Amino acid sequence: MNKPASPNWAERAKQLNIQGKSFINGQYVSAASEQTFDCISPIDGRHLTQVAACDQVDVDKAVAAARAAFNDGRWSRLHPSKRKSVLLRLADLIEKNADELALLETLDMGKPIRDSLSIDIPATARCFRWYAEAVDKLYDEVAPTAHNVLATITREPLGVCGVIVPWNFPLIMAAWKLAPALAAGNSIVLKPAEQSSLTAVRLAALAAEAGIPDGVLNVVTGLGQDAGQAIGLHRDIDGVFFTGSTAVGKYILQYSAQSNMKKVGLECGGKSGHIILADCGDLDAAAEAAAFGIFFNQGEMCSAGSRLILDAPIRDAVMDKILKFAKSMQPGDPLDPTTRLGAMVDKTHTERVMDYIASGKQEAELLVGGKQARLETGGCYIEPTVFDKVSNQARIAQEEIFGPVLAVITVNGVDEAIQVANESIYGLAAGVWSDNVNTLYKATRALKAGVVYANCYDADDITTPFGGYKQSGIGRDKSLHAFDKYTELKTTWLKLR
Ligand code: NAD
Repeated sequence: MNKPASPNWAERAKQLNIQGKSFINGQYVSAASEQTFDCISPIDGRHLTQVAACDQVDVDKAVAAARAAFNDGRWSRLHPSKRKSVLLRLADLIEKNADELALLETLDMGKPIRDSLSIDIPATARCFRWYAEAVDKLYDEVAPTAHNVLATITREPLGVCGVIVPWNFPLIMAAWKLAPALAAGNSIVLKPAEQSSLTAVRLAALAAEAGIPDGVLNVVTGLGQDAGQAIGLHRDIDGVFFTGSTAVGKYILQYSAQSNMKKVGLECGGKSGHIILADCGDLDAAAEAAAFGIFFNQGEMCSAGSRLILDAPIRDAVMDKILKFAKSMQPGDPLDPTTRLGAMVDKTHTERVMDYIASGKQEAELLVGGKQARLETGGCYIEPTVFDKVSNQARIAQEEIFGPVLAVITVNGVDEAIQVANESIYGLAAGVWSDNVNTLYKATRALKAGVVYANCYDADDITTPFGGYKQSGIGRDKSLHAFDKYTELKTTWLKLR
């Protein structure tokens, strides 16, 4: 039998019906102000749609709908097994509509279609399915108190959750928060990043089709300083759960303090140290992981191994391999299924990354890349870029670039490697390669990061917590630990006669 021809994604893109309105109380709605902003594809500068530019008035409407839904129990008091069925249906619908969602993700933020199809959409569906499956298997606790009292410790949904997400993995970042929050019975007001609103709006419609009642999942599109700030400051939102930059994460903390001390969860930036030690037995695997650790998703990865920390004896051997990878991973058309490095999210971010490359040229030695590419397309592309002889104090070693830019730092031995890796305001991820189990164990314990990879990088599964030490955030996404964010613990004392 002949293999089915792979879809022509460029042709399919022309047939898409793209929705740019918000989704409040079960309806697509324009912003109350009627304001919109342009949604431009970074692939080639094409205009995709107008997106509703919501502000406080729209956020108020969404919160009122979410609060009404929460209070009347249409979702919050459903039997957990019923919430489970609906969320399982949503996972099925995500898979059924995978091509459309993947195409929207790629057009909107520029990642290769092969990644949207093989990573973003399956991981989103798996996330909803996993929390759906979990929710009717969680038990509460009874405290070991005196025989004539009963003290129960129960988890209750928080209420109305504000969720604010970035653009690098638009659906996955939303799903990591929505799935446990919905499974626990909360109502939600989700604000996607203005650079990538399209799949969030589509997801809300799929959620409605799956049976999530009106008002339970609202998507308010808009700019951070308008819709995002209104969520942060809202007095009837019980918790705000944010993924994005550390700078904006600090605003979220302030908004909470200035309003109603709402619960805050933060997943913020990173500048992860990826260490390869002299006794690493598989330099090919380590070099490949180091290259993918920075170039995957155009380097627009919170956990990117953006500081490669090489032990002096293996430095040259690893560098040869990394440079080969960098040269072979040139940016291509994201709609071509063979492309591995796509477009940067937009012009503003491209300029920001190019500004870091300019400062890198002052501070270190540029070995490869450093230029924009595919300018003739009208899109936003940057070559994989490697800087050598970087001091850990350099701007490109301390600040998050969020692009395909690797800073290589040479050290002598494990102690110096750990010290350099930990000299950062961030603590999201870290990696270490060694064939000596004692060294490996010592390093994994000493590295100050929420996720440590040993002899691998960017391993991932919904079963494990994800989040950061230091200024990389507060709290964890994924795994059963995520329920801690979206529930309150209640202690109830019942005195028996
Ligand atoms: P960003 O902080 O600029 O924006 C994130 C979200 O916050 C967007 O929805 C934006 O509209 C909103 N926002 C912006 N200003 C706001 C304000 N004043 N008030 C309220 N909301 C506001 O981040 P970004 O550029 O979209 O994403 C990149 C950042 O996200 C990087 O720092 C990256 O490391 C981080 N990130 C972290 C994780 C993690 O799990 N730790 C995962 C992915 C991305």
